[in-house]
Amino acid sequence: MKHFNIAVIAGDGIGPEVIAEGKKVFSGIAEMDGGFSVSFEDFPWGCEYYLKTGEMMPTDGLDILKPFDAIYLGAVGYPGVPDHVSLGGLLLQIRRGFDEYINLRPVRLLKGAPCPLANVLPDDINMIVVRENSEGEYANVGAHLYPGTEREMALQTGVFSRHGCERVIRYAYELARLEKRSLTSISKGNALRYSMVFWDEIFAEIGREYPDVETHSLLVDAASMFFVKDPGRFEIVVTSNLFGDILTDLGAAIAGGMGLAAGANLNPERKYPSMFEPIHGSAPDIAGQETANPLASIWSISQMLEFLHEQEWAERILSAIETLLVERRTLTPDLGGSAKTSEIGAAILEILER
Ligand code: ATP
Ligand code: MG
Repeated sequence: MKHFNIAVIAGDGIGPEVIAEGKKVFSGIAEMDGGFSVSFEDFPWGCEYYLKTGEMMPTDGLDILKPFDAIYLGAVGYPGVPDHVSLGGLLLQIRRGFDEYINLRPVRLLKGAPCPLANVLPDDINMIVVRENSEGEYANVGAHLYPGTEREMALQTGVFSRHGCERVIRYAYELARLEKRSLTSISKGNALRYSMVFWDEIFAEIGREYPDVETHSLLVDAASMFFVKDPGRFEIVVTSNLFGDILTDLGAAIAGGMGLAAGANLNPERKYPSMFEPIHGSAPDIAGQETANPLASIWSISQMLEFLHEQEWAERILSAIETLLVERRTLTPDLGGSAKTSEIGAAILEILER
């Protein structure tokens, strides 16, 4: 029987509360003859670890994580610890160290999930956003010059390498071909005349190898409008690091809220482990109250199982989440219910067992 060995970094704030539910679902499936077994190893890394040791994770953290089949991350962030320390010292270390250059974010409105848009049916929102995850606007190249003088300025440079653009765009084309769905590239060539024009050229170039894939190109400003006015036009979306970051928060808002949005950081070559996480933060305002919604982190388990070639379980988890949303018996307060975080994993398993 297949065995999956998962590294768990529950992290800070609501991280441990929501991750516990995802683990319950994963091990529950294994116990109900899912066709595989699973073991978890927990790593207490994050901001509390940082306050004790001065680092977010040990110096040899990547070596420790490398043998695992996947990494399951909760959230990092703590009041008083700056983001460049918390995110930079853990999340970005892992993304970069393991070359997780694809950030895959489903934006799918399940039946029963709240949607702030009028006249939108659940079937209208079902896209996958492929976000570049290793360079672009977040390449960390720039300078803060002449501080304290009249000439003071900050420069921030985007890095769009041919290699970096090609691999993410090619990944998106492959996905579109596999799923027989259209592909939309979102960029901003009319204003960012070096980086985005280069991106657009590569998108067209690679497209010649995929004559079977229907393609569209949109400017990010127009795309933002269509996310709200006509999200049904999007199927597979490929975009840069910054635009993907912003658009997927917008995507989360139209598809049920932060409590339902999951994201995968993939190294498609499987040379290194990939990392699966709810996209929300540590939410210190609600930590410890048992009100956090763990459905995003359970959705992450679905994404993880899909990546581990357990496609059928991945789909079954999503339809169990949908059933939970439609029945409305066991929901956390953000979705209008009164259930505790710790009740959700069992409720999902109960639906899966039916
Ligand atoms: P970051 O700094 O990474 O953005 P954050 O702590 O601000 O992290 P967000 O994900 O931006 O967290 O979430 C903003 C707010 O949305 C939280 O403060 C919380 O009130 C609410 N929220 C986020 N995730 C959840 C969740 N899983 N369940 C319920 N409410 C949530
Ligand atoms: Mg926030």
